[in-house]
Amino acid sequence: LKPNSFFSIYYYNRIKCSYKTTDNFWFSYVTKCFFFLEIRHESLKRVSLSIILLKTAFGYFVMEALKERILRGGRCFPGGILKVDNFINHQMDPILMKSMAVEFVRRFASTKINKVLTVEASGIAPAIMVGYLLELPVVFAKKRKPSTMENMLVTEVFSFTKNQTYTVCVSKDYLQPGDKVLFIDDFLANGNAGKGMIDLVNQAGAEMVGMGFLIEKSFQHGGDYLRQAGIHVESLAIIESLD
Ligand code: 5GP
Repeated sequence: LKPNSFFSIYYYNRIKCSYKTTDNFWFSYVTKCFFFLEIRHESLKRVSLSIILLKTAFGYFVMEALKERILRGGRCFPGGILKVDNFINHQMDPILMKSMAVEFVRRFASTKINKVLTVEASGIAPAIMVGYLLELPVVFAKKRKPSTMENMLVTEVFSFTKNQTYTVCVSKDYLQPGDKVLFIDDFLANGNAGKGMIDLVNQAGAEMVGMGFLIEKSFQHGGDYLRQAGIHVESLAIIESLD
């Protein structure tokens, strides 16, 4: 160890926490570099590499667990609809939900975020888990305009599962100019909910910095549209076909 490695270790401990407060984004990166530059001791180098590998392995196991639950409990319905009522959409598995949220935090670790956005109802559970881990407020867009709510941002979203167009709204009090928004939802299909959320974020003068989905159905191509629009999209499970 070099003499100032004690500082590096101190900073490294700070880094482990700093993903929670994304305000520390640059601080986290600079100090991470410090850590790797300053520590010369081979065994410690190996420890830090193992931490990185373990984190990557964690992501792999979360995705495997989700895949296994989809294969075991998912049911296919006509029109390309997948029901995962036993662990996401009706009964929920909080342990799996938390692991998936940790994986989102890992994947968006280098993104500066100050707000998590979702749309009611099924997006709320994963979004609140992510918001809890990042210690950030979670806003959910409402599918009905409350009569008591003023100052609304409004957009239309077509839901192909319900074959219906919703008016989706968020109060201007909770989506503000300059906000850096991470959108979290359960499914990505044709991308209509995602497009609606981008519209709301743009109306607010905020920025959509990322979108995370538990399950993406790539045969419905919403993901292609969002990625081509330059959005950082992360999906934990991607389904190519329900045949
Ligand atoms: P999109 O707007 O991307 O076409 O569809 C996403 C929204 O529709 C999600 O908020 C989700 O609630 C719902 N959705 C889309 N496909 C499915 C599906 O196969 N199963 C379930 N349970 N919900 C879906």
